[in-house]
Amino acid sequence: MRYYADSAATTPLHPEARRVMDEWNQREFGNASSLYAEGRRARAALDEAHEALAQHWGCLFGEVLFTGSGTEAANLAILGFALANPTDRRTIVLGAGDHHCVTHTVGWLGRLGYQVRWAPIDHEGRTRVDALPAIITEDVALVSVMMANNELGTIQPLAEIVAQARAVGAHVHTDAVQAFPTLHGSPWTVDDLGVDMVSISAHKFGGPKGIGALYVRGGTPLEPVVVGGGQERDMRAGTENVALALGMAEALRQALADPERDARRRAARDAFAAALDPKFIPTVPAAPRLDGHHHVRLPGADASAFLIRLDREGVCASSGSACSSGSLEPSHVLMAAGYSEEEARQGLRFSFGPEITIDQAQSMATLVNRVATAFG
Ligand code: PLP
Repeated sequence: MRYYADSAATTPLHPEARRVMDEWNQREFGNASSLYAEGRRARAALDEAHEALAQHWGCLFGEVLFTGSGTEAANLAILGFALANPTDRRTIVLGAGDHHCVTHTVGWLGRLGYQVRWAPIDHEGRTRVDALPAIITEDVALVSVMMANNELGTIQPLAEIVAQARAVGAHVHTDAVQAFPTLHGSPWTVDDLGVDMVSISAHKFGGPKGIGALYVRGGTPLEPVVVGGGQERDMRAGTENVALALGMAEALRQALADPERDARRRAARDAFAAALDPKFIPTVPAAPRLDGHHHVRLPGADASAFLIRLDREGVCASSGSACSSGSLEPSHVLMAAGYSEEEARQGLRFSFGPEITIDQAQSMATLVNRVATAFG
Protein backbone atom coordinates (compact mmCIF):
# COMPACT_ATOMS: atom_id res chain seq x y z
CA MET A 1 0.00 0.00 0.00
CA ARG A 2 1.28 3.46 -0.92
CA TYR A 3 0.10 6.55 0.94
CA TYR A 4 0.21 9.82 -0.95
CA ALA A 5 0.63 12.89 1.26
CA ASP A 6 2.19 15.29 -1.21
CA SER A 7 -0.77 16.91 -2.93
CA ALA A 8 0.91 20.32 -2.64
CA ALA A 9 3.59 19.00 -5.02
CA THR A 10 1.12 17.57 -7.50
CA THR A 11 -2.23 15.82 -7.65
CA PRO A 12 -3.43 12.77 -9.58
CA LEU A 13 -5.07 13.64 -12.87
CA HIS A 14 -8.86 13.61 -12.43
CA PRO A 15 -10.35 10.75 -14.52
CA GLU A 16 -12.78 13.15 -16.21
CA ALA A 17 -9.93 15.51 -17.15
CA ARG A 18 -8.06 12.53 -18.60
CA ARG A 19 -11.16 11.43 -20.54
CA VAL A 20 -11.74 14.88 -22.04
CA MET A 21 -8.08 15.15 -23.07
CA ASP A 22 -7.96 11.63 -24.53
CA GLU A 23 -11.15 12.20 -26.50
CA TRP A 24 -9.77 15.42 -27.93
CA ASN A 25 -6.41 13.90 -28.87
CA GLN A 26 -8.03 10.87 -30.51
CA ARG A 27 -10.31 13.05 -32.62
CA GLU A 28 -8.47 16.29 -33.34
CA PHE A 29 -5.05 17.71 -34.06
CA GLY A 30 -5.74 21.13 -35.55
CA ASN A 31 -3.77 24.29 -34.87
CA ALA A 32 -6.04 26.87 -33.23
CA SER A 33 -4.56 29.59 -35.46
CA SER A 34 -5.52 27.82 -38.73
CA LEU A 35 -8.42 29.23 -40.69
CA TYR A 36 -9.87 25.95 -41.99
CA ALA A 37 -12.41 23.80 -40.12
CA GLU A 38 -9.88 21.74 -38.09
CA GLY A 39 -8.31 24.96 -36.83
CA ARG A 40 -11.66 26.57 -36.13
CA ARG A 41 -12.69 23.55 -34.01
CA ALA A 42 -9.43 23.83 -32.04
CA ARG A 43 -10.03 27.57 -31.57
CA ALA A 44 -13.58 26.95 -30.36
CA ALA A 45 -12.37 24.36 -27.82
CA LEU A 46 -9.62 26.67 -26.59
CA ASP A 47 -12.10 29.53 -26.26
CA GLU A 48 -14.38 27.29 -24.24
CA ALA A 49 -11.54 26.57 -21.79
CA HIS A 50 -10.74 30.30 -21.52
CA GLU A 51 -14.40 31.00 -20.89
CA ALA A 52 -14.60 28.39 -18.10
CA LEU A 53 -11.76 30.10 -16.24
CA ALA A 54 -13.07 33.60 -16.89
CA GLN A 55 -16.52 32.66 -15.59
CA HIS A 56 -15.07 31.11 -12.47
CA TRP A 57 -12.84 34.12 -11.80
CA GLY A 58 -15.60 36.61 -12.64
CA CYS A 59 -13.43 38.37 -15.20
CA LEU A 60 -13.49 39.03 -18.92
CA PHE A 61 -12.57 36.32 -21.40
CA GLY A 62 -9.62 38.42 -22.63
CA GLU A 63 -8.19 38.78 -19.13
CA VAL A 64 -7.17 35.09 -18.95
CA LEU A 65 -3.91 33.90 -20.53
CA PHE A 66 -2.82 30.28 -20.71
CA THR A 67 0.84 29.57 -19.97
CA GLY A 68 3.01 26.45 -19.82
CA SER A 69 2.97 26.25 -16.00
CA GLY A 70 2.34 28.17 -12.79
CA THR A 71 6.02 29.10 -12.89
CA GLU A 72 5.66 30.66 -16.32
CA ALA A 73 2.52 32.54 -15.25
CA ALA A 74 4.33 34.12 -12.29
CA ASN A 75 7.41 34.88 -14.43
CA LEU A 76 5.22 36.58 -17.01
CA ALA A 77 3.40 38.59 -14.35
CA ILE A 78 6.57 39.91 -12.71
CA LEU A 79 9.04 40.17 -15.59
CA GLY A 80 6.38 41.15 -18.14
CA PHE A 81 5.21 43.91 -15.81
CA ALA A 82 8.79 45.05 -15.18
CA LEU A 83 9.39 45.31 -18.94
CA ALA A 84 6.18 47.27 -19.57
CA ASN A 85 6.11 49.49 -16.49
CA PRO A 86 5.54 53.02 -17.86
CA THR A 87 6.40 54.80 -14.59
CA ASP A 88 9.81 55.72 -13.19
CA ARG A 89 9.23 53.53 -10.12
CA ARG A 90 12.06 51.01 -9.97
CA THR A 91 11.33 48.95 -6.84
CA ILE A 92 9.47 45.65 -6.77
CA VAL A 93 8.38 43.98 -3.53
CA LEU A 94 8.47 40.16 -3.42
CA GLY A 95 7.34 37.88 -0.59
CA ALA A 96 10.35 36.53 1.30
CA GLY A 97 8.66 33.13 1.66
CA ASP A 98 7.26 32.99 -1.87
CA HIS A 99 7.87 30.12 -4.29
CA HIS A 100 11.12 30.20 -6.27
CA CYS A 101 9.16 31.05 -9.42
CA VAL A 102 8.70 34.46 -7.77
CA THR A 103 11.87 34.85 -5.68
CA HIS A 104 14.20 33.78 -8.49
CA THR A 105 13.01 36.63 -10.72
CA VAL A 106 15.33 38.77 -8.62
CA GLY A 107 18.29 38.21 -10.98
CA TRP A 108 16.44 39.37 -14.08
CA LEU A 109 14.82 42.24 -12.19
CA GLY A 110 18.30 43.46 -11.25
CA ARG A 111 19.41 43.33 -14.87
CA LEU A 112 16.31 45.28 -15.84
CA GLY A 113 17.31 48.02 -13.40
CA TYR A 114 14.96 47.17 -10.54
CA GLN A 115 15.76 46.79 -6.87
CA VAL A 116 13.87 44.12 -4.96
CA ARG A 117 12.60 44.69 -1.45
CA TRP A 118 11.47 41.63 0.51
CA ALA A 119 8.18 41.49 2.41
CA PRO A 120 9.18 39.71 5.64
CA ILE A 121 7.34 36.76 7.17
CA ASP A 122 6.90 35.78 10.81
CA HIS A 123 7.75 32.47 12.51
CA GLU A 124 4.62 30.84 11.02
CA GLY A 125 5.33 32.06 7.49
CA ARG A 126 2.75 34.87 7.51
CA THR A 127 3.65 38.23 5.94
CA ARG A 128 4.33 40.78 8.67
CA VAL A 129 1.61 43.38 8.18
CA ASP A 130 3.29 45.73 10.67
CA ALA A 131 6.33 45.93 8.36
CA LEU A 132 4.37 46.78 5.20
CA PRO A 133 4.22 50.61 5.48
CA ALA A 134 8.03 50.74 5.48
CA ILE A 135 8.33 48.20 2.62
CA ILE A 136 5.52 49.13 0.23
CA THR A 137 6.30 52.80 -0.31
CA GLU A 138 5.73 55.28 -3.14
CA ASP A 139 8.71 54.08 -5.17
CA VAL A 140 7.17 50.58 -5.52
CA ALA A 141 5.78 49.63 -8.93
CA LEU A 142 4.65 46.06 -8.21
CA VAL A 143 4.03 43.88 -5.17
CA SER A 144 4.03 40.08 -5.57
CA VAL A 145 3.06 38.06 -2.52
CA MET A 146 1.54 34.59 -2.68
CA MET A 147 -1.96 33.76 -1.50
CA ALA A 148 -0.94 30.69 0.50
CA ASN A 149 2.48 29.24 1.16
CA ASN A 150 3.24 25.96 -0.62
CA GLU A 151 5.60 24.74 2.07
CA LEU A 152 3.98 25.73 5.35
CA GLY A 153 0.41 26.18 4.09
CA THR A 154 0.14 29.59 5.75
CA ILE A 155 -2.56 31.81 4.24
CA GLN A 156 -1.28 35.31 3.62
CA PRO A 157 -3.01 38.52 4.75
CA LEU A 158 -3.62 39.51 1.13
CA ALA A 159 -6.28 42.15 1.90
CA GLU A 160 -3.81 44.12 4.04
CA ILE A 161 -1.07 43.75 1.42
CA VAL A 162 -3.41 44.95 -1.35
CA ALA A 163 -4.60 47.88 0.80
CA GLN A 164 -1.03 49.06 1.39
CA ALA A 165 -0.15 48.65 -2.30
CA ARG A 166 -3.24 50.59 -3.38
CA ALA A 167 -2.46 53.36 -0.88
CA VAL A 168 0.81 54.06 -2.72
CA GLY A 169 -0.45 53.32 -6.26
CA ALA A 170 1.44 50.02 -6.75
CA HIS A 171 0.15 47.08 -8.81
CA VAL A 172 -0.28 43.64 -7.21
CA HIS A 173 0.31 40.08 -8.42
CA THR A 174 -0.46 37.02 -6.32
CA ASP A 175 0.67 33.44 -6.84
CA ALA A 176 -2.53 31.56 -6.02
CA VAL A 177 -1.26 28.14 -7.13
CA GLN A 178 -1.94 26.50 -3.76
CA ALA A 179 -5.26 28.23 -3.08
CA PHE A 180 -7.07 27.57 -6.35
CA PRO A 181 -9.93 26.99 -7.03
CA THR A 182 -11.26 27.24 -3.47
CA LEU A 183 -10.11 28.40 -0.08
CA HIS A 184 -11.77 26.64 2.88
CA GLY A 185 -14.41 25.31 0.51
CA SER A 186 -15.28 28.69 -1.03
CA PRO A 187 -14.54 29.69 -4.61
CA TRP A 188 -13.12 33.20 -4.92
CA THR A 189 -13.18 35.72 -7.76
CA VAL A 190 -10.41 38.06 -8.80
CA ASP A 191 -12.50 40.96 -7.49
CA ASP A 192 -12.60 39.29 -4.07
CA LEU A 193 -8.80 39.50 -4.07
CA GLY A 194 -8.64 42.99 -5.56
CA VAL A 195 -5.32 42.27 -7.30
CA ASP A 196 -4.17 42.98 -10.88
CA MET A 197 -2.69 39.58 -11.70
CA VAL A 198 -3.16 36.01 -10.42
CA SER A 199 -1.13 32.90 -11.30
CA ILE A 200 -2.42 29.33 -11.11
CA SER A 201 -1.32 25.84 -12.18
CA ALA A 202 -3.57 22.98 -13.39
CA HIS A 203 -1.70 20.04 -11.87
CA LYS A 204 -2.37 21.23 -8.33
CA PHE A 205 -6.12 20.63 -8.58
CA GLY A 206 -6.52 17.46 -10.63
CA GLY A 207 -5.56 18.94 -14.00
CA PRO A 208 -2.64 18.03 -16.28
CA LYS A 209 0.97 19.11 -15.87
CA GLY A 210 2.34 21.62 -18.34
CA ILE A 211 -0.38 24.24 -18.24
CA GLY A 212 -1.02 27.23 -16.01
CA ALA A 213 -2.91 30.47 -16.37
CA LEU A 214 -2.50 34.13 -15.57
CA TYR A 215 -5.31 36.55 -14.90
CA VAL A 216 -4.36 40.06 -16.04
CA ARG A 217 -6.79 42.86 -15.21
CA GLY A 218 -7.51 44.97 -18.30
CA GLY A 219 -5.14 47.93 -18.52
CA THR A 220 -2.33 46.34 -16.48
CA PRO A 221 1.01 47.09 -18.18
CA LEU A 222 2.45 43.80 -19.50
CA GLU A 223 4.98 42.80 -22.16
CA PRO A 224 5.31 39.18 -23.32
CA VAL A 225 8.40 37.28 -22.18
CA VAL A 226 7.92 34.53 -24.80
CA VAL A 227 7.70 36.17 -28.21
CA GLY A 228 6.88 34.82 -31.66
CA GLY A 229 3.39 34.24 -33.04
CA GLY A 230 0.45 36.25 -31.78
CA GLN A 231 -1.06 33.56 -29.53
CA GLU A 232 -2.81 34.42 -26.27
CA ARG A 233 -3.51 37.92 -27.50
CA ASP A 234 0.18 38.55 -28.25
CA MET A 235 1.12 37.86 -24.63
CA ARG A 236 2.43 34.28 -24.85
CA ALA A 237 3.67 33.00 -28.18
CA GLY A 238 3.65 29.30 -29.07
CA THR A 239 1.01 26.99 -30.53
CA GLU A 240 -1.60 26.37 -27.86
CA ASN A 241 -2.08 22.89 -26.39
CA VAL A 242 -5.84 22.52 -26.69
CA ALA A 243 -6.01 19.15 -24.89
CA LEU A 244 -4.23 20.54 -21.82
CA ALA A 245 -6.51 23.58 -21.77
CA LEU A 246 -9.57 21.32 -21.94
CA GLY A 247 -8.14 19.12 -19.17
CA MET A 248 -7.56 22.15 -16.97
CA ALA A 249 -11.10 23.44 -17.51
CA GLU A 250 -12.55 19.99 -16.77
CA ALA A 251 -10.50 19.65 -13.57
CA LEU A 252 -11.87 23.02 -12.48
CA ARG A 253 -15.43 21.91 -13.23
CA GLN A 254 -14.91 18.69 -11.25
CA ALA A 255 -13.39 20.51 -8.27
CA LEU A 256 -16.29 22.96 -8.14
CA ALA A 257 -18.81 20.11 -8.40
CA ASP A 258 -17.37 18.66 -5.19
CA PRO A 259 -18.02 21.30 -2.51
CA GLU A 260 -16.87 18.97 0.29
CA ARG A 261 -13.42 18.63 -1.22
CA ASP A 262 -11.63 20.99 1.18
CA ALA A 263 -13.58 19.66 4.17
CA ARG A 264 -12.39 16.11 3.39
CA ARG A 265 -8.80 17.28 3.09
CA ARG A 266 -9.10 19.06 6.40
CA ALA A 267 -10.65 16.02 8.13
CA ALA A 268 -7.83 13.77 6.87
CA ARG A 269 -5.20 16.36 7.82
CA ASP A 270 -6.64 16.80 11.33
CA ALA A 271 -6.87 13.04 11.91
CA PHE A 272 -3.25 12.67 10.79
CA ALA A 273 -2.06 15.56 12.98
CA ALA A 274 -3.91 14.23 16.03
CA ALA A 275 -2.33 10.79 15.64
CA LEU A 276 1.20 12.10 15.09
CA ASP A 277 3.84 11.70 17.80
CA PRO A 278 4.37 14.98 19.74
CA LYS A 279 8.06 14.88 18.83
CA PHE A 280 6.93 16.36 15.48
CA ILE A 281 6.56 20.06 16.17
CA PRO A 282 3.86 21.84 14.13
CA THR A 283 5.29 24.86 12.31
CA VAL A 284 1.96 26.67 11.91
CA PRO A 285 0.11 26.13 15.20
CA ALA A 286 -1.99 29.31 15.17
CA ALA A 287 -1.97 31.17 11.85
CA PRO A 288 -4.68 30.45 9.23
CA ARG A 289 -3.53 27.67 6.89
CA LEU A 290 -4.65 25.58 3.94
CA ASP A 291 -6.99 22.68 4.70
CA GLY A 292 -4.72 19.96 3.34
CA HIS A 293 -1.41 21.12 4.83
CA HIS A 294 0.44 19.89 7.90
CA HIS A 295 4.03 21.11 8.18
CA VAL A 296 6.18 19.95 11.08
CA ARG A 297 9.80 19.91 12.20
CA LEU A 298 11.50 16.85 13.59
CA PRO A 299 14.31 18.20 15.77
CA GLY A 300 17.57 16.32 15.33
CA ALA A 301 16.54 14.77 12.01
CA ASP A 302 17.66 15.55 8.50
CA ALA A 303 14.43 15.74 6.50
CA SER A 304 15.86 14.19 3.32
CA ALA A 305 17.08 11.05 5.16
CA PHE A 306 13.75 10.81 6.96
CA LEU A 307 11.79 11.17 3.73
CA ILE A 308 13.79 8.36 2.12
CA ARG A 309 12.88 6.09 5.05
CA LEU A 310 9.23 7.11 4.71
CA ASP A 311 9.30 6.28 1.01
CA ARG A 312 10.57 2.78 1.82
CA GLU A 313 7.62 2.35 4.18
CA GLY A 314 5.21 3.48 1.47
CA VAL A 315 4.62 7.11 2.47
CA CYS A 316 5.08 9.89 -0.09
CA ALA A 317 5.73 13.20 1.65
CA SER A 318 8.18 16.01 1.11
CA SER A 319 10.08 18.77 2.77
CA GLY A 320 8.43 21.26 0.45
CA SER A 321 11.79 22.73 -0.42
CA ALA A 322 14.24 22.01 -3.19
CA CYS A 323 16.44 18.92 -3.28
CA SER A 324 19.66 19.09 -5.26
CA SER A 325 22.08 16.18 -5.80
CA GLY A 326 20.09 14.10 -3.35
CA SER A 327 20.68 16.45 -0.42
CA LEU A 328 18.23 18.90 1.01
CA GLU A 329 18.88 22.62 0.74
CA PRO A 330 17.82 24.44 3.89
CA SER A 331 14.32 25.71 3.20
CA HIS A 332 14.38 29.37 2.17
CA VAL A 333 10.89 29.70 3.68
CA LEU A 334 11.98 28.44 7.11
CA MET A 335 15.13 30.59 6.92
CA ALA A 336 13.00 33.66 6.09
CA ALA A 337 10.72 32.69 8.99
CA GLY A 338 13.70 33.01 11.35
CA TYR A 339 14.81 29.39 11.76
CA SER A 340 18.49 28.41 11.84
CA GLU A 341 20.03 26.57 8.89
CA GLU A 342 19.96 23.32 10.84
CA GLU A 343 16.28 23.79 11.74
CA ALA A 344 15.53 24.72 8.14
CA ARG A 345 16.68 21.22 7.14
CA GLN A 346 14.22 19.55 9.52
CA GLY A 347 10.98 20.55 7.84
CA LEU A 348 8.48 17.89 6.71
CA ARG A 349 5.37 18.67 4.72
CA PHE A 350 2.39 16.35 4.64
CA SER A 351 -0.28 17.60 2.26
CA PHE A 352 -3.58 15.82 1.75
CA GLY A 353 -5.78 15.61 -1.29
CA PRO A 354 -9.54 15.05 -1.18
CA GLU A 355 -9.14 11.37 -2.04
CA ILE A 356 -7.50 10.37 1.27
CA THR A 357 -9.78 8.86 3.92
CA ILE A 358 -9.52 9.46 7.66
CA ASP A 359 -8.59 5.80 8.19
CA GLN A 360 -5.77 6.07 5.67
CA ALA A 361 -4.53 9.31 7.28
CA GLN A 362 -4.44 7.62 10.70
CA SER A 363 -2.64 4.54 9.36
CA MET A 364 -0.17 6.86 7.70
CA ALA A 365 0.48 8.64 11.01
CA THR A 366 1.14 5.28 12.69
CA LEU A 367 3.70 4.46 10.01
CA VAL A 368 5.33 7.88 10.29
CA ASN A 369 5.56 7.52 14.09
CA ARG A 370 7.14 4.08 13.71
CA VAL A 371 9.75 5.43 11.30
CA ALA A 372 10.49 8.29 13.72
CA THR A 373 11.03 5.83 16.59
CA ALA A 374 13.36 3.70 14.50
CA PHE A 375 15.11 6.88 13.30
CA GLY A 376 16.24 7.59 16.85
N1 PLP B 1 3.74 28.55 -7.03
C1 PLP B 1 3.50 27.74 -6.00
C2 PLP B 1 3.02 28.31 -4.71
C3 PLP B 1 3.69 26.36 -6.13
O1 PLP B 1 3.46 25.55 -5.09
C4 PLP B 1 4.15 25.86 -7.36
C5 PLP B 1 4.44 24.41 -7.55
O2 PLP B 1 4.98 23.77 -6.66
C6 PLP B 1 4.36 26.75 -8.42
C7 PLP B 1 4.15 28.09 -8.22
C8 PLP B 1 4.85 26.29 -9.77
O3 PLP B 1 3.82 25.71 -10.52
P1 PLP B 1 4.25 24.77 -11.77
O4 PLP B 1 4.64 23.46 -11.19
O5 PLP B 1 3.02 24.68 -12.62
O6 PLP B 1 5.35 25.46 -12.46
